[in-house]
Amino acid sequence: MKLYNLKDHNQQVSFAQAVKQGLGNQQGLFFPLELPEFERTAIDDLLALDFVSRSSKILAAFIGDEIALPPLQERVKAAFTFPAPVITVTEDIACLELFHGPTLAFKDFGGRFMAQMLSYISAADEKITILTATSGDTGAAVAHAFYGMDNVRVVILYPQGKISPLQEKLFCTLGGNIHTIAIDGDFDACQSLVKQAFDDEELKQTIGLNSANSINISRLLAQVCYYFEAVAQLSQEQRNQLVVSVPSGNFGDLTAGLLAKSLGLPIKRFIAATNANDTVPRFLAHGAWQPKTTVATLSNAMDVSQPNNWPRVEELFRRKAWHLNELGFGAVSDDTTKATMRELADMGYISEPHAAIAYRLLRDQLQPGEYGLFLGTAHPAKFKESVEVILGQSLALPEALAARADLPLLSHAMPAEFADLRKFLFNA
Ligand SMILES: *Cc1c(COP(=O)(O)O)cnc(C)c1O
Repeated sequence: MKLYNLKDHNQQVSFAQAVKQGLGNQQGLFFPLELPEFERTAIDDLLALDFVSRSSKILAAFIGDEIALPPLQERVKAAFTFPAPVITVTEDIACLELFHGPTLAFKDFGGRFMAQMLSYISAADEKITILTATSGDTGAAVAHAFYGMDNVRVVILYPQGKISPLQEKLFCTLGGNIHTIAIDGDFDACQSLVKQAFDDEELKQTIGLNSANSINISRLLAQVCYYFEAVAQLSQEQRNQLVVSVPSGNFGDLTAGLLAKSLGLPIKRFIAATNANDTVPRFLAHGAWQPKTTVATLSNAMDVSQPNNWPRVEELFRRKAWHLNELGFGAVSDDTTKATMRELADMGYISEPHAAIAYRLLRDQLQPGEYGLFLGTAHPAKFKESVEVILGQSLALPEALAARADLPLLSHAMPAEFADLRKFLFNA
């Protein structure tokens, strides 16, 4: 597999290099040089396979001969150990539940596959530091995926006080090779610190710097697989008129969905759903890219005003000669999110703020004859505090959370200053 840097098309790297480096020169994102496509009949054959076999073939179509199919399949099997069920919510809408993994969010798919790929392509004695910023869920997925791996040190930055207490418990209580830092700032400040670290050649070389954010191509490719898994569970009729609504923050999930469509998966259109951090909806409505200061919302994993993956979305539209005006979009306020969660609960479906935003826009924009799917990106219990207040009922904690809820936090606190982070990375 060859990938090019979106900011410097002359920089081309292999899949292994892209996985190890994360970002290219000038902080450019890597993008596949070839965009594979399956014939309609090949898609039908793929859809008939089980999740792991099908996913291995999809990933092989991108990765090519860099990794042979049998070891790839072995790694996929080790990463994808939990299901992604499609749960019917109304007559014409279902939820693709992506939260049945160890940290109860869709990021388990990408995080676990990336850990598998990194360990496959690295020498046993190579020292690697994973530096990642999280708005809540990436941190947990990455921490759990890499926990206990000998040659990998993980450093996770998160905005102090801006993630849910249970989210924090899930990844800040592990210790060992997992270091967590509460930054005095918002998620964009954390993301900016990570970018500065990647610009620091000396640091990068000395500590073997790698990022596990959704900017890492291995995570995106893993996420392509569950869009196929969703369609595989639908009837032929539903497949023909499918609209998918994606709750978006950094826009990795939407990029993966669009890549699935570019492979030939029948998805009629997508809806890019955001909370009040609506840089993309405003851009799609008015054509001007004008990020505002990030505001805190109920759907904190989507509190991103400068979404990292957007250049990939634009590149894919350009390469495929699709038009951005085919992309549905919308932003949902916290008040509407709450009302929507209650509306869903009245229909017998307990959801959380991120999924509710995707449902709201899908419900409002779905046309007669279409079938809608919204992504359930996190387990409702992960946002227990807010969900219980909004719905007026209590939620049981799943085992993974219950086990960590009473452990002490092991995080360091740090101002949003690169000099402090640099010192930590050299010394920790
Ligand atoms: C990360 C996350 C999102 C946003 O996904 P992106 O790929 O960053 O757009 C949405 N919902 C939840 C629960 C998340 O953890």
